[in-house]
Amino acid sequence: MRIFISVDIEGVAGVVDGIHGRPGNAEYERARRLMTEEANAAIRGAFAGGATEITVTDSHGPMRNLIAEDLDPRVRIVQGKPRPLSMAQGIEPDHDGMVLIGWHGAASRFGVLSHTVSGKAFSKIEIGGVTAGEPTLFAGHAAAIGVPLLAVSGDDRLAEEMAEQFPSTRRIVVKKAIGAGAANALSPQSSRDLIEAEVAEAVRGAADRQPEQPCPAPFETRIRFVRQVHADGAALIPRAKREDALTVAYDTETHAEAIALISALALIVSGVDPA
Ligand SMILES: [Zn+2]
Repeated sequence: MRIFISVDIEGVAGVVDGIHGRPGNAEYERARRLMTEEANAAIRGAFAGGATEITVTDSHGPMRNLIAEDLDPRVRIVQGKPRPLSMAQGIEPDHDGMVLIGWHGAASRFGVLSHTVSGKAFSKIEIGGVTAGEPTLFAGHAAAIGVPLLAVSGDDRLAEEMAEQFPSTRRIVVKKAIGAGAANALSPQSSRDLIEAEVAEAVRGAADRQPEQPCPAPFETRIRFVRQVHADGAALIPRAKREDALTVAYDTETHAEAIALISALALIVSGVDPA
């Protein structure tokens, strides 16, 4: 049984502030260790639940946060960017299930460090009228190629989003959101124990799961930027529809196409910072 695990950092127990996700400081070095150990817990659980082959994808910011030499040696690791499928890079139609560890709520929704792809670039993303978090896009892509979302870990608000969009997915709550930069969390060790047990159960039930799709393609991808100048640039793309000062919409044929579009725009915004 082939399992795909994508690991982000904002939803990890012990992570509460943007500093934890930004390389170049001691708090980030702690946070990436916590992230690596939650990944290891999910790997142990997945193997215990019957996985025979696991790919782990590093899905935060620079996408090279997981400490490769500390990761369970039984897995393959996808790291680095840019890459066409971003947080879902490495998933294939013959995977039996997807697991998301350390994920977070959608841009415009309440939660610890909620955002969609880039908090600096986007204040809200909708696909087909559905408020899109990262699971909407990336687990949506998995569903489109026939892979069910088995389990998701993060805060309690992410769990609410999953209940709406992927109701059969196992929800692993390692912290309660108090605000964008505050949480009431399990200890890292308790979080790992919970993740290991829950992922094992989820993987054990993988054969009975069907993919759930909150937003079938094709759909319109509507992006509200944080700054007008970035919307001005995004509106230059052929066939873009400018809706207002901050909002640009595009017709997209597939989840993969929307992911590539959003990734490209985030990359451009990260390099454009006019006064
Ligand atoms: Zn992240």
